[in-house]
Amino acid sequence: MTRADENHTHTAEILLAQAERRVGHWIDGALVEEERSATAVHDPATGEVVAAVLHGDAGTVDRAVQAGARAFPAWAATPVAKRVAILRRFAQLLERDEERIVDAICREHGKVREDAAGEVARGLEVVDLACSAPVMLKGEFSDDVARGVDTYSLRQPLGVCAGITPFNFPAMVPLWMFPVALVCGNAFVLKPSERDPSASLVLAELLAEAGLPAGVFNVVQGDRVVVDALLDHAGVAAVSFVGSSPVARYVYERAASTAKRVQALGGAKNHLVVLPDADLDRAADALVGAAFGSTGQRCMAISVAVAVGDVAEPLIERLRLRADALRIGPASDAEAQMGPLVNGQAKRRVVGYIERGVTDGARLVRDGRADANGGAGHFVGPTIVDGVAPGMAVYDDEIFGPVLGVARADSLEAAIQLINDNAYGNGAAIFTESGSAARRFQREVQAGMIGINIPIPVPVGSYSFGGWKDSLFGDQHLYGPEGFAFYTRNKVVTARWPREQAGMSLAFPSGR
Ligand code: NAD
Repeated sequence: MTRADENHTHTAEILLAQAERRVGHWIDGALVEEERSATAVHDPATGEVVAAVLHGDAGTVDRAVQAGARAFPAWAATPVAKRVAILRRFAQLLERDEERIVDAICREHGKVREDAAGEVARGLEVVDLACSAPVMLKGEFSDDVARGVDTYSLRQPLGVCAGITPFNFPAMVPLWMFPVALVCGNAFVLKPSERDPSASLVLAELLAEAGLPAGVFNVVQGDRVVVDALLDHAGVAAVSFVGSSPVARYVYERAASTAKRVQALGGAKNHLVVLPDADLDRAADALVGAAFGSTGQRCMAISVAVAVGDVAEPLIERLRLRADALRIGPASDAEAQMGPLVNGQAKRRVVGYIERGVTDGARLVRDGRADANGGAGHFVGPTIVDGVAPGMAVYDDEIFGPVLGVARADSLEAAIQLINDNAYGNGAAIFTESGSAARRFQREVQAGMIGINIPIPVPVGSYSFGGWKDSLFGDQHLYGPEGFAFYTRNKVVTARWPREQAGMSLAFPSGR
């Protein structure tokens, strides 16, 4: 054991002795409290330790995958209507226990209650979608493709699938994955973010209460040790990942090297273009909500406003007034609209980008560093930086905090070019009264999700969610029709039931 390992273990022992709550794993239908080590889970609004999360290792992952593999054959053979009945019951339990999930999210992520409730509601949409599995899993049938021959297709589950999720939606992002995976007949191992792990266990408990057989859904807590063990495990058939782009690329490459199916969704730098004909009050309302909601910690947050023509000055003034009026505070403040950043590291990163923006020549219209909320917790208020452009870190990088850059463009064409030159391609939005401008935007922008007079165009459950370029490694998006395609394999049957002897032929079969 190295000195660093010894220190880690020592700290873990003290933490485990002191923490009031231990967040463990869920394997084979039961809570498991084994640990390789443990780290603290903090309340971002106060900085206080609220729990210790136990980290699994390759052994824990193996136990979870083996539990999934044991449960898989019977679950895959369970009629889809029965699988749907369990998910329907799960949806009811999610609604019943929404407050419990919201409490866990607010305590460990720090977002305000309304926002946490919104995340549960958007997750529920995917459970509803999963309940449409009898339709989504319908195969195709072609009658008499050759004399007396029919061809039809079946979609079958993959086996044990893994989901690795980020801190910013501790309930919704797992819910974007496992309801579809499970209803297709797969087993699932979830590796939640170690920063806010508790919501995952509530989901596991509710699935068990809904009647999901033990072993079909498992949770292993931890960090990259657990991620690597899942990526390398021969018993894992597919990996869904959501997180930052560098880790998404790593997950994609490592999992693909052992021939797994992978979808790895990464980070973003979403632009919202405001054309001169737009209603500026509506655009400013939308921008403030999309840039500062959840303290900018959404992959669909708008981080760049592109002011076209002469809208920059009147738009910036409207943004500043609205940002000044926002109420910043902890989730325990029922009036708060914007909470803290997730931890001290995130706060240092965001503050660093604001400083670099100023050094690089951008103009600070509103400085959120002053909104420290009395010094406790990891608060940074809404920040508006004017004059951002490619080549500045504040423009190029994903900041993942409440920093809205304002860029300028002479024309719609220039605005589209700016977006297309950016490495990310998650979402992009336009505010305009012109149908033809909007249509051009939707056709030419290289991003997976487009909003027209909608700032955060997260598709409803019946469509799929995913970006382009560095925002997605892999080719299939989450949930919706692509989610069903990702979690199943297609099988095509060609069948003949002959009544008479056809005779022997060595020619390649054709219908002619
Ligand atoms: P992250 O990449 O740090 O972590 C995501 C997951 O990967 C976590 O479970 C974490 O434990 C694990 N992980 C972290 N570092 C790792 C490493 N080096 N090797 C293996 N595993 C590792 O992301 P985060 O900070 O939790 O979440 C914020 C990021 O997620 C942002 O970039 C945001 O844009 C992105 N995000 C994307 C989407 C999307 O749909 N595209 C949705 C939500 C969040």
